This record gives sequence, structure tokens and C-alpha cells, in this order.
Amino acid sequence: MVGIGPGDYREMTVRAVDALNACDVIVGYHVYVDLVKEHFPDKEFHTTPMRREVDRCKLALELAREGRDVAMICSGDAGIYGMAGLIYELLGDEGDIEVEVVGGLTAACSGAARLGAPLTHDFAVISLSDLLTPWETIERRLECAAMGDFAVALYNPSSVKRRDYLQRACDILLRHAKPETVCGAVRNIGREGEAVEVMPLAELRDYEADMFTTVFVGNSHTRVIDGHMVTPRGYRDV
Ligand code: SAH
Repeated sequence: MVGIGPGDYREMTVRAVDALNACDVIVGYHVYVDLVKEHFPDKEFHTTPMRREVDRCKLALELAREGRDVAMICSGDAGIYGMAGLIYELLGDEGDIEVEVVGGLTAACSGAARLGAPLTHDFAVISLSDLLTPWETIERRLECAAMGDFAVALYNPSSVKRRDYLQRACDILLRHAKPETVCGAVRNIGREGEAVEVMPLAELRDYEADMFTTVFVGNSHTRVIDGHMVTPRGYRDV
């Protein structure tokens, strides 16, 4: 299980590169396969469409049972909204296949680096996708994060079917956070069309995020310094 980072080859770990060089077969969602293909041209690639995560894992396990050395790739980190957990669940306690998880740079880290330093103090990571999580649970977590004055990284902020989810999330955060709370959005991190924006929470409400955007909401101490989103490490004046 290999996390390939956000997209730019230079943000893949050396260990991930070693794992992909050493394997026979690379399995993944086609977007991620396209991102790594040119660097591993001699490998056999297998892709499955989005939402076919279980099929993708089963395919990887099938190939491994045939004796192949399989690398299953996920963007960012394989264990953060990725498939590392699913592979363990499918394998159960049988343990007939040896699994290794190779950590990767998750979008919260790579996106934060583009913005400046928004996650320097305590932060929460919340996905707005209600495909696998009830919306009420997401709402509760958003409210708790805002009550706790956590900076928040929002994954899956929008999709064609969930256009207004970011707006709904902002409205919940606004129950506890000020409209001027410093926020940021990073689109296509490490990929073509990378774009970074800093804006207040009141404006984030109307921001058109897509499924390749990670959104950052600051805590009450987050500031804009020379165009960068910065959360102080401590709550003291500097
Ligand atoms: N395993 C991934 C997360 C997968 S969930 C990781 O650790 O980064 C998919 C969500 O991750 C997207 O909707 C987006 O919010 C975020 N994301 C992943 N890659 C991204 C990228 N290159 N640029 C911006 N956001 C990204």
C-alpha cells in the first residue's frame, strides 16, 4: 500500500519510489496511475474506476495470491481516506498475504505547505463526503472542531452531487468561528493547474471547491502574513 503524495514526483517519499521500483504490478485509480506511469514505464499497470475501491483491493489481493509483488497506490497517504484499512479488512485474520504500508504526504501537509503554515497548532481533519459517513456525524464533528477552536483541513469539500456541502459546513463553523477567520483553499496540489487562495470564512462559504481541492480553516489566532496563512505555534503575542 503505497501513498504517492499529492502528485508531484518530488513529493513522493524515497521509500515509495523504492517500493514501486521493486514491485511487479502497480494497481490504482487511473488518475493516480497516470501520475506515476512515466517514472515506472516497465511496470504492469491495472486500473479500476473511481468508487470501485473494493474491486480494486480484491484485484490487488488476487494478483498477490498469484505470487506477484503488487503495489497498490493511493494519492497522499494510503491510510488517510485511502485503502490501507480496506485491504486489512478484506484480508481479515487469514494473513496469507504480507502487507506493508508505505506512508505518504497527505493533502493536509502538502496543501498547508503551499499556503504557509496554517496547521502549526492543534488541528482536525474532516472529510465532507457522506458516501460512507452519515451527514449528521460530519456536522457533529465540524461543530466540535469549531467549538474547540481547532484549525481544520477539509477533504472532499465538494463534488458534482454535493455542490453545497462546503457552504453547509461553513454555516456550521460560523456558529462558533468569526466570519473573518482566515481560511485557504489549495486546488490540484502538485498537479497541473495548482492554485492557492487565502480568504475569510465568510467568503469561503461561496467558494467553488471541486473534488481536487483541500480547504483549510484557521483557528481564532490564524493570521495573514505577507499573503500567507499562518497559525501561531502558541497563543502569545509576537
Ligand atoms: N489519501 C489522500 C486523500 C484522499 S480523499 C491523501 O492522503 O491526501 C480525496 C480528497 O483529498 C480530495 O477531495 C481533496 O480534498 C484531497 N486531495 C487529495 N489529493 C489532492 C491534491 N493533489 N490537491 C488537492 N487536494 C487533494
